[in-house]
Amino acid sequence: MPVNSVADRQIRRESCKFGVVCSECAESITGRRGVAQRSSWFCRLGLQAALLLASACALAAPVLDLSPGQSRATLGSVTTYAVDASGQADAAQMFGRADDAAFKPVPADNATFGFVDGAYWFHARVANAGSADMRWLLVLEYALLDQVDLYLRHADGRIEHFQSGDYHPFSQRAVSYRHPNFWLQMPPGQPLDLLLRVQSQSSMQVPLALYTPTAFIELARDAQLGMGIYYGILLALLFYNLILFVSLRDRSHFLYSLHVLGFGLVLFCLNGFAFEYFWPNSTWLANAAVPMSMALAMLAMHLFARDFLELPRRLPWGNRVLLGMIAFHALMLAASPWLDYRVAVLIGTGMVFPGVGAVIAVAIVVARRGFRPALLFLLAWAMLLAGTLVYALVSFGMLGKSFATEYGMQIGSAAEMIFLSFALAYRWAALRSENERIAREANEQLEQRVEARTSELSTALQQLSEAHVRLREHSARDGLTGVFNRRHFDQHFAPLLAQCRADARPFSLLIADLDHFKRVNDEHGHLTGDDCLRCIATSLQQCAGEHALVARFGGEEFVVLMPGTDELGARRSAEMLRQRVAAHRFALEGGRQLHLTVSIGVASAGSEAQIAAETLLRRADDALYEAKRGGRNRVVQGPVAA
Ligand code: GH3
Ligand code: MG
Ligand code: MG
Repeated sequence: MPVNSVADRQIRRESCKFGVVCSECAESITGRRGVAQRSSWFCRLGLQAALLLASACALAAPVLDLSPGQSRATLGSVTTYAVDASGQADAAQMFGRADDAAFKPVPADNATFGFVDGAYWFHARVANAGSADMRWLLVLEYALLDQVDLYLRHADGRIEHFQSGDYHPFSQRAVSYRHPNFWLQMPPGQPLDLLLRVQSQSSMQVPLALYTPTAFIELARDAQLGMGIYYGILLALLFYNLILFVSLRDRSHFLYSLHVLGFGLVLFCLNGFAFEYFWPNSTWLANAAVPMSMALAMLAMHLFARDFLELPRRLPWGNRVLLGMIAFHALMLAASPWLDYRVAVLIGTGMVFPGVGAVIAVAIVVARRGFRPALLFLLAWAMLLAGTLVYALVSFGMLGKSFATEYGMQIGSAAEMIFLSFALAYRWAALRSENERIAREANEQLEQRVEARTSELSTALQQLSEAHVRLREHSARDGLTGVFNRRHFDQHFAPLLAQCRADARPFSLLIADLDHFKRVNDEHGHLTGDDCLRCIATSLQQCAGEHALVARFGGEEFVVLMPGTDELGARRSAEMLRQRVAAHRFALEGGRQLHLTVSIGVASAGSEAQIAAETLLRRADDALYEAKRGGRNRVVQGPVAA
């Protein structure tokens, strides 16, 4: 509201009419800043008589005597009030009513009336009981009052008019202080009538206190120190958590910072600091910032609680409730500048109870479900509630005023913020150890699976290699007799011979061919022939020794490679075989017996012989033919290569 309101102009006109002193004139006389805004100097003498009469009547009202040794006083006990529902009454009328004792004492010495319409007028009478001039500061200890008009009626009937409240720029205040205040200049022995008109969209709280300049400095110093500590804690937490947010990228820290900012801003507005320091010239913001900061604080509180308690995952219905609250407060944040101040503040204040209740309810449920950080969260909230309770108990007079109790809300909220910060750190540590546990378990599982897979793989490899060995063995063996086949013989003959030569060892080769085997097949059948072949192969292996390589050369012919065996050893083995076969009787069906003989050709190479494998084989073959030609059932030694 502009300073030169209609009511104000009307007051000025009325003042002139009744011969009242204007504050403009008073300012020119006193030369002090903020002593007065408008009015003119002594206007008329016409109605001085009426005023003197009024003063005489007013003498009956209680007077607060201010003695020289006194430094502070509260006016509650001598304050009376009257309601001006239309807001149209002027100072002269109200002085008149006060003089007629039409004002009522304020209830319980406490000028607190809640949200009310119209203007409230307060009257108090003080007197300088000393013998020298006194200067006192009148302070209205509530920061949010919109329009405050103070009319001072001196003993000589002179009336001064001063204005304050957050509908006027901050610079108009007598002392740059967060609460509206006025200087009172009091000559000795003279009473001074204070008539205060207050009109406000905020709650009607008008605690009036008087301070000497020294007492006020002390009060301001103590209060500023306390507030400084409080806001210092909030600022430190705000920046600390912002830094944590930037470094950890954990959204909770950001939302927590927003919570601190919102809450701090609300108290900063309520304490009158926001108007003093942020927007001293914006009377619009001085008022609009209150519901806006309330909406921001509630919005941030729900966002933070929702994120901290992990509601989307842990408690879907709680999440939906808080999302509803978040949407509501976001809407309020956007709409409150355009809403009527009182409506916005009432909604904002009213929503604190369901909002806090919902947060506590979901936190309890989440804590009961075993989410331990929720316990610290609840403890933090308990601090705030305890602080608020202490504040309320002080307000109702159930607790004495002390620094701790008067600033219970601040102490409680600071403790809440500190505890929430702890809770965040605890939650972060819990999440980290949870993540580590998950990672460790995943690692262990992975290791187990890798181990299992590795073992399966090595078993499969083992089986494969065994199969491979079996396959190779199989492919190297003759299917009927089990001795090596021709391919294996071809692959190993030359290398074995070369190795013996390299080792300077002798080498021998036998070729054994069954005599007249065709007849066996013809007379006894091929199966009998097969049995005979198997039997011969076994005997060959036994006679040749473990280092020899026995192979089926083809048909009923066998070949034996004997590395390290010279011609004597070879001939002995061949002879042993021949005799064994000749002595063996193959049992046939019907008790019959079969008698077989074998012819063997032997070829040997000395330890230093340079003979090719084919040559050695041909010599053995030649020796075999010679044995056949010689009548069979015999061993023939071919020429020994030296
Ligand atoms: P010789 O004393 O001159 O060696 O006369 P032989 O009858 O043993 O020689 P021949 O070369 O005329 O006959 C070889 C016979 O060996 C022919 C064939 O029936 C027989 N034979 C070859 N391979 C097998 C076989 O795997 N199983 C059977 N049962 N007989 C075979
Ligand atoms: Mg043959
Ligand atoms: Mg034969």
